[in-house]
Amino acid sequence: MLSAPNESAFPAPGLPEVAIVGRSNAGKSSLLNALVGRRKLARTSGRPGRTRAIVFFEVEERFLLVDLPGYGYATAPKAEQAGWSKLVAAYFDSRRPLRGVIALFDIRRTPDDLDQALLQMLSDRSIACKAIWTKADKLKRRAQDLRSQELSRALAPTEAGISFSVKTRQGRDELLDWIETRVSGR
Ligand code: GDP
Repeated sequence: MLSAPNESAFPAPGLPEVAIVGRSNAGKSSLLNALVGRRKLARTSGRPGRTRAIVFFEVEERFLLVDLPGYGYATAPKAEQAGWSKLVAAYFDSRRPLRGVIALFDIRRTPDDLDQALLQMLSDRSIACKAIWTKADKLKRRAQDLRSQELSRALAPTEAGISFSVKTRQGRDELLDWIETRVSGR
């Protein structure tokens, strides 16, 4: 595991990479824990002091899972949001073997300008974006499907969204399959 607070600390490009990004509180730490299965790996929000580093985890010596910092902290000053954009853009622009980005959105939340800006950063660079609608267990199946359609229309990710829950494991296998497909280049 390597934590990079700025571009000069990024590891040299090597293994394929899949990055994970989301608004603060969208459920990124929970999803990383559910995927990688080691509670220590991911930080959880709710403690003071935001993380402004990009964290690279090597998985099975085959690929890197790249944990991008969360955005949209309620109390974040403008300068901090600008710092986030600069760091994340530096990562996207560093000619890395980036096979796709998993973007997390709380299934109950209406996307705002920051969410749209993220999607724009990805589409400007032709980076595949797999949308994950998190905390799906908070809604019944029918409501999940409706929200999934609304979010897809609002955000237009390049890859079909998945309703996901760490509680019920809904969507987990589908997401793992997507990662596998991207890293193996199939
Ligand atoms: P992060 O800020 O994006 O890393 O978000 P966290 O992983 O810390 O999650 C934020 C809050 O949402 C925590 O209270 C989690 O317990 C909760 N949460 C995350 N995923 C789920 C989920 O799938 N279902 C439910 N019900 N709660 C979740």
